[in-house]
Amino acid sequence: PTADQALVDAVIGAPGPAQRRAIAKTITLLESSRDDHRRRADEVLNTLLPKSGRSFRLGISGVPGVGKSTFIEALGLYLIGQGHRVAVLAIDPSSSVSGGSILGDKTRMEMLSVNENAFIRPSPASGTLGGVAERTRESMLVAEAAGYDVVIVETVGVGQSETAVSGMTDMFVLLQLPNAGDDLQAIKKGVMELADLVVINKADLDEAAATRARAQITSALRLFGQHGNAMHDQSLWHPQVMQLSALKSQGLPEFWAQVSRFRELQTANGRLAARRHAQDQAWMWERIEAGLKNRFRHHPGVRDMLPAVTAEVRAGRLAASVAARRLLDLMN
Ligand code: GDP
Repeated sequence: PTADQALVDAVIGAPGPAQRRAIAKTITLLESSRDDHRRRADEVLNTLLPKSGRSFRLGISGVPGVGKSTFIEALGLYLIGQGHRVAVLAIDPSSSVSGGSILGDKTRMEMLSVNENAFIRPSPASGTLGGVAERTRESMLVAEAAGYDVVIVETVGVGQSETAVSGMTDMFVLLQLPNAGDDLQAIKKGVMELADLVVINKADLDEAAATRARAQITSALRLFGQHGNAMHDQSLWHPQVMQLSALKSQGLPEFWAQVSRFRELQTANGRLAARRHAQDQAWMWERIEAGLKNRFRHHPGVRDMLPAVTAEVRAGRLAASVAARRLLDLMN
């Protein structure tokens, strides 16, 4: 067998250090910017694809300090205790700017990271958000092929990364603090509308505030029309709000019960499968568009003509749409 076939065999093989190394190696391959690596990664991914998809994909977001890593560690350990294998991936929207990774901090999730039934991978360290998201999505397929049956994709609530995470997961969970201020932030940014479940964390600090926040967010969710019409329809999932304490590991069984109910309902009514199909299509087109744009920018003819055509448009001698057509024609 070729080296890459051996890699595939190790990924889908028995859990243990060898599998762990193979997963890491595969992900490194698909994060590489070298063309030959990319070609090999594509082959490996395609071979793994039939084995992927059998996990539940959970997206988790929230502002820095809300308790994401505390929650994911507590949840991960709880789920492993129930016999699950848990992979945690991250999308750090700041990595494309800073080149560093806040979510990749090695000291986070200390207990989970040393557990043999957990696999934790920080955000790809560089690239556009679209590129980082795509590599995370591919890493998810690798983890699934290796038999991780719960995949958690984490992001920090500061931008478009939430849309990306909700676009690659079955269920999107938004963590909130028990005060009203940042609920408004989430509503303003439209993030609340993505949430299938809102979790008010740190309920141990102020039970009364958490309960108030819960009522506020519940009524805010009702205002989003898309769910309003079918409130009575029991075959559909309606976004829920709950409170818990990640630090004290309180409310985890209740949280997982909500997730399980979501999964059962969405499987029965067909929405889980529909969501995945729509996500695959959207990702394909997103990547096609990104790829075309990239080819356009690197096309020698376009590179030669672009400054002159741009100047013509600026000077008002050429209509913008005509300029675009001329440049696009150079690609033929
Ligand atoms: P992240 O930035 O969202 O990953 O947040 P962290 O998990 O790092 O948590 C930020 C701080 O909040 C840490 O000091 C945690 O110990 C604390 N924290 C997290 N969850 C809880 C909770 O449920 N209750 C309390 N009291 N503190 C919490």
